[in-house]
Amino acid sequence: MSYRLADRAALLATFICLVCTSAPRANAQEATRPTRVLVLYQQQSETQPMLEFAQRLRTTISTGVKGPVEFYQEALDFDRFGGREQSSPLAGYFDDKYRRFGIDVIIPVGGRALRFAVDRLANVLPNVPIVFALCGEPQTDPADQPANVTGRIAPAQRFAPTLWMATRLQPNAERVVVIGGAGPADSASVATAVSAIPALGSALQTTVLQGLSLDVLLPRLRKLSRNSIFIFANYRQDGRGQTFEPADIIGSIAHAAPGPMYTQLGTYVGEGPVGGSVLRFDDEGVRTGRLVVRVLNRRRGDRMPPIESIAHTFVADWRQLQHWGLPDAGLPAGTEVLFREPTLWQRYRTFILLALGVIAAELLLIGALLLERRLRIRAQAIAEEEQHRAAETRRQITHIGRVALVGELAATMSHELRQPLAAILNNAEVGARVVRRNVGKLGGEERELCAEIFSAIIADDALASDIITRVRALVRKEELPQQPVDLNEMCRTSARVLQYDARTRHAKITLSLDPRLPPVTGDPVQFQQVVLNLTLNALDASAATAHPCVDISTVARDGEVEIAVRDNGVGLAENVRQHLFESFFTTKAHGLGLGLPIVQSIVERHHGRVRAENGEQGGAVFRVMVPVRQSPRRARAPRLRFGAETSASNGAVR
Ligand code: ADP
Repeated sequence: MSYRLADRAALLATFICLVCTSAPRANAQEATRPTRVLVLYQQQSETQPMLEFAQRLRTTISTGVKGPVEFYQEALDFDRFGGREQSSPLAGYFDDKYRRFGIDVIIPVGGRALRFAVDRLANVLPNVPIVFALCGEPQTDPADQPANVTGRIAPAQRFAPTLWMATRLQPNAERVVVIGGAGPADSASVATAVSAIPALGSALQTTVLQGLSLDVLLPRLRKLSRNSIFIFANYRQDGRGQTFEPADIIGSIAHAAPGPMYTQLGTYVGEGPVGGSVLRFDDEGVRTGRLVVRVLNRRRGDRMPPIESIAHTFVADWRQLQHWGLPDAGLPAGTEVLFREPTLWQRYRTFILLALGVIAAELLLIGALLLERRLRIRAQAIAEEEQHRAAETRRQITHIGRVALVGELAATMSHELRQPLAAILNNAEVGARVVRRNVGKLGGEERELCAEIFSAIIADDALASDIITRVRALVRKEELPQQPVDLNEMCRTSARVLQYDARTRHAKITLSLDPRLPPVTGDPVQFQQVVLNLTLNALDASAATAHPCVDISTVARDGEVEIAVRDNGVGLAENVRQHLFESFFTTKAHGLGLGLPIVQSIVERHHGRVRAENGEQGGAVFRVMVPVRQSPRRARAPRLRFGAETSASNGAVR
């Protein structure tokens, strides 16, 4: 008995020990098992929208749940295999595959997948939480779901915002054209879209193009009015039973539509539609994933989170807006505009700013250089002006000095020459008397020659002394005599006085005198000086030529008497002509530069004028014009000027 008791105690201890050691092992196994997620796709799982959805879903769950997560997926493909929803072998497949495997959450994607999970997998995977995705009312009724079901559902009126957006962009549209396929999902979408139209207003007509095959639909679309709103509801299956992935054909449909087309799925924006209030698959992947994480992380006994509403967002394709000429301003606030081509400014902002910066810097530099150049030129001009003024002042001071010196010189000369000239005159008169007294001793010819010589000496002496007197008067600014002057006589005397000079230079002096020349009023000695100076200059100028020739002519015209002295010399170069009448201007080695200023002073003193020009046959012509009648103004003694008063006009200098 005691043995039995001992055995029994040993067995109990062994059992307790076994229980105690085996229980933690089972818990450890449970703790390390990965979380298993079964995704049930209603359609195929490889389409682009589904891939976007799945990728975000997986990432969100994997990061939200502790420990490893395993994803299992089944594509039910109900559109193409519709009858399978009720098929027992399909349910058996799941039973066989998953019943003892252990699934932590089922994610049916689409209303029919949800129904399959609820109806057919309740026995296979009892009480496993179900989180549905991408379902819409009224196909899915949120109120009719068991306690282990939650998910995200699109409201029944999901086309209403899209239509509202369309009418804002096309306020003058006359018609709404709803395009859809013939499949059950297509029909549901078409019905949803059509039901939203009346709310827009009675003015809009409705056309439904449903169940047509593509080759019929596209030509029908092209015939419709441009002034229509085209709504792409869904097109998974055509009337002939051919199934499509809408993303593959939406571009062709949008292209055939003669007006802007709108859609409710974000993935289709970019393929041809203008946009719409869309459901975005990637966004839904994230939001469904978050809901799944909440379900998996809830405490034991907690209720399932409530069913959530899918919020649509306004999206527009900028290229299509441009293509249809739809105004950006018509877009609802907050619309996300995709594919906007950046403006030149946006694209090249950095370059433009850089280029503008460089241009601005260059402009500044150029401006600064121009300013600097302008300031330099101005400073240079001021400096030159000052230099010029200083030079002019120096010149005038020198000039005044020279004029004063000439005055002194003239006074001295007239004083000094008075004596010898008086002596010459005296001697010539005595000589003439001696010749007269010895009339008998000299031959007739000799007597006449001597008388002529002495007369000439006396006349020249008188002229010389007169000139000296007048020059002295001129320098002292004295009043001069006014009497009638025969200018022809002045010319003849000059030719005679300069005969000797002419002969030594082998030059010829000719006279062309107007016999009816009226007398002018003035100082004969000064007029004599004028003709003498001009004739001497003419002889100098023509000296270098082979046949030096000087012509002195007079003519009376228009109340004036003109004396012209022509030569066949070098003529007047421009640089000479500009300075002709400046005192002390000379081009001659031994010249004084006073001859022409004296001529000008005398002529102007007699109210006349002097012109210098080049002769038509070469050489120079100096013309002196004196009025026959002078104004009653009392004549003043001419005076030498300090500066030149020359002005060129018609090739002449006055
Ligand atoms: P000067 O005879 O002492 O040089 P002028 O005042 O008489 O002084 O003449 C000034 C300058 O005018 C002369 O040096 C000469 O260059 C120029 N000139 C005067 N007359 C003539 C002329 N007939 N032909 C060419 N140049 C002349």
